[in-house]
Amino acid sequence: NKKMEYIGRFAPSPSGPLHAGSLVAAMASYLDAKAHQGQWLVRIEDIDETRTVADATAAIMEALTVFGMQHDGEVVVQSERKDLYQAAFTRLNGLVYPCGCTRREIADSRLGVAADGAAIYPGTCRHGVATGKTARTWRVRVPDANEANETIDFNDRWLGPLTQHLSTEVGDFVLKRADGFWAYQLAVVVDDAEQGVTHIVRGTDLLESTGRQIYLQRMLDYPTPEYMHVPVVLNDVGEKLSKQTGALALDLAHPMNELIKAARFLELSLPPAQSIAEFWQAATAAWAQRFCT
Ligand code: GLU
Repeated sequence: NKKMEYIGRFAPSPSGPLHAGSLVAAMASYLDAKAHQGQWLVRIEDIDETRTVADATAAIMEALTVFGMQHDGEVVVQSERKDLYQAAFTRLNGLVYPCGCTRREIADSRLGVAADGAAIYPGTCRHGVATGKTARTWRVRVPDANEANETIDFNDRWLGPLTQHLSTEVGDFVLKRADGFWAYQLAVVVDDAEQGVTHIVRGTDLLESTGRQIYLQRMLDYPTPEYMHVPVVLNDVGEKLSKQTGALALDLAHPMNELIKAARFLELSLPPAQSIAEFWQAATAAWAQRFCT
């Protein structure tokens, strides 16, 4: 059992309480950290303050306690870390540019839609904000086809080897939004590096972001962590669970039931457990056998 430095994290956005889908992501990251005898950090990703719901952070932390998931270190909160994002953004000087295009104009250019639904930016403002427009957002330039770092290859511990093409699948992407908030893509990369995160375990709903994040890591001289994207829980009509799609709250009065359901979703077959501590012991052993050999 070779001992390695392992720092993992769970990074919920406080847009609502923990639900069945976020419990699966929390469980997978927690088990992977425990199976590696590593640390498990919790980071509150409230960088999009327009989506923050009052009391959601307290509800999430309370649920983690009920589920017996203890975090290591301080809980960091993105809205308190804007100086770090500004400093990283400043270091990208030369790669970033102001953009005056509206969503509508970008959609009308019909270059296609990235997998996360955002229209691919055609590069209109790359060489200066078009006349008659004012800067709204700041974008980072991605390499053109055949330039270095246009193709991002990485090995996903759940999905295997993957490739993303930044110029055709993503385009120059926003780091600072029109409403003045830092984009998730920048904040998450800065925080993971600053907190020394070595292993990222999260849902496949974030897979489309990974190429962008690895690109930013390279441009900022940060190490690239290991990635594992686990399946996400969908509702009856195939949508990711969220408050918007009507995810039911977890039943905190019966935490064991919720834990067993989440473990089953992650394809862990476990012997019956008498206590939450016993559940985690068995689940960690099963996870270690599957992923840490
Ligand atoms: N805050 C993101 C979310 O809740 C997760 C970010 C991440 O794990 O990289 O969807």
